[in-house]
Amino acid sequence: MTALVVVGHGTRSAAGVEQFTALVERVRRKAPEGVDAVEGGFIELSRPPLTDAVGALVERGHRSLVALPLVLTAAGHGKGDIPAALARERDRHPGLTYAYGRPLGPHPLLHTALEERIDAALGSDDRAGTWVALIGRGSTDPDANAEVAKVARLLWEGRGYAGVEPGFVSLAEPSVPAVLDRLRRLGARRIVVAPYFLFAGVLPDRIVARSEAFAAAHPDLDVRVAGLIGDCDALADLVRERYAEARCGDIRMNCDTCAYRVLMPGFADKVGRPQTPHDHPDDPVGGHHHHHDHRHRHHGGPGLRPGEVAVVGGGPGPDDLITVRGRALLDAADVVVADRLAPTGLLAGLRPDVLVVDAAKVPRGPSMAQETINDTLVAHARAGRRVVRLKGGDPYVFGRGHEEVQACAAAGVPVTVVPGVTSAVAAAALAGVPVTHRGVAHDVTVVSGHLPPGHPDSLVDWAALGRARGTLVLLMAVDTVAAIAATLIGHGRAADTPVLAVQDAGHPGQRSLTAPLDEIAAVAAREGLRPPAVFVVGPVVALAVPPTSRAAPPSGQAVPSGQAVPSGQAVSPGRAIGVGPAGY
Ligand code: SAH
Repeated sequence: MTALVVVGHGTRSAAGVEQFTALVERVRRKAPEGVDAVEGGFIELSRPPLTDAVGALVERGHRSLVALPLVLTAAGHGKGDIPAALARERDRHPGLTYAYGRPLGPHPLLHTALEERIDAALGSDDRAGTWVALIGRGSTDPDANAEVAKVARLLWEGRGYAGVEPGFVSLAEPSVPAVLDRLRRLGARRIVVAPYFLFAGVLPDRIVARSEAFAAAHPDLDVRVAGLIGDCDALADLVRERYAEARCGDIRMNCDTCAYRVLMPGFADKVGRPQTPHDHPDDPVGGHHHHHDHRHRHHGGPGLRPGEVAVVGGGPGPDDLITVRGRALLDAADVVVADRLAPTGLLAGLRPDVLVVDAAKVPRGPSMAQETINDTLVAHARAGRRVVRLKGGDPYVFGRGHEEVQACAAAGVPVTVVPGVTSAVAAAALAGVPVTHRGVAHDVTVVSGHLPPGHPDSLVDWAALGRARGTLVLLMAVDTVAAIAATLIGHGRAADTPVLAVQDAGHPGQRSLTAPLDEIAAVAAREGLRPPAVFVVGPVVALAVPPTSRAAPPSGQAVPSGQAVPSGQAVSPGRAIGVGPAGY
């Protein structure tokens, strides 16, 4: 004897739970041969949980189960989430084995049930003048969406409807209004919207609401919504058929080309993995997923919906100089594409199901071409994921952030920018130096030292910077600082202008040193200064107030500073001097 456990995903709809329970009871009344126990359970949201259903069967002595996912289409729930829940049950009950059945659809019994629901909506009106919009759930798995298109075709074959077009209530296109508009433009006057759903729930309700809204905006159209498949004999028969298949090991899948089995561009996180994340509005996983409904979202405010990209500045590091908004979006992300300079401490705190892509962009080092990064962002967004591009500092200060924004915009992917604390200002501050100060410096210029003075591609007016008296901040200049210092002095900067160098600003290993402009290159070389480092040139450097432990990195560790630097003044950790009201 064996036992059958019917596994549902779960729903917020009480009616949906009732229909599921009624179906399990219907299957139980006419249980397949050899089955002496039938239970039903949900993997989330609804009662009873799967673990109770399995526990009840184990208590009655069952060790060998057939588990059937009550899903229409092979997608993330059927292929990832439900098997994962079953694996937990197997761990819980040593010796438990189960055979796993395949999804219910496509199947002629379902097509006939859909036909009956459509006919009920049609009454005496003729099929030839009727178009059908078959609305599936929508998935981040293209194969699952293709499956709905296949069912639409099978539903049309031989039944005499003017046509059947697939659409999706979530995550996939065409949406409900989009498919209705398509049918309208094909000349439809009467449309039956047929939800390809088993039971009541949030999404079937949404199909009705969207259909009604479309109908209200198009009074010339006759739009009706058919009933759900629901608890019925046909469905119970289909469950028994899927049971028999699973029992004899026949678990053919119709999706051998799907993203869970075959590596497809942009879907690398799916093969052999449970569904990450749960993308549907009625899925509770991760809490934050409840907030992405557009009705709850203020434009321009925080929030990241599936299919959107946020280019987020992470600050100089290690992990608590990111903005509150940046942190919130990071917590909402399904995919994080991170730079080498992005604060890695932030990545360690992500949920384990978040895909982290390392863009490893090291200046002049091995790098993932910018175009590949752009493509990665677009591909993940198009697959319906919430994508955060995490950068060090501010995305728009030598961060190429805008190239990514442009690429997303060109691809039609919604994209936002979250500014960050830039090392151009913060590195100096973290070493106790202001980039401006009343009466000392009234301008600050941030310059890339990536190309040395005289380089044919350089866009920098080094002569003007040599004549200037304010603060000059150099990024990416560890290799070029000798040439830059010489050029500045050559154009009039005083050779004894103090220069501060800060390496790994904000990190536990932050170090800084100072030297006059004509010695900075030699001192930096002798001290082994390495990227990432910022140089600050100008009289503000003389104002240094060395950081106290309060301003030190979160580790609480003292900030090692420019050790003994014979020819320069070392900025060493020391007592902070009291600073009164600035009196600006
Ligand atoms: N978008 C970044 C800058 C990227 S360019 C920002 O706004 O901070 C890379 C350069 O930034 C490095 O070569 C270095 O000059 C500087 N940099 C970035 N993070 C730094 C850090 N933690 N400490 C010192 N310099 C840093």
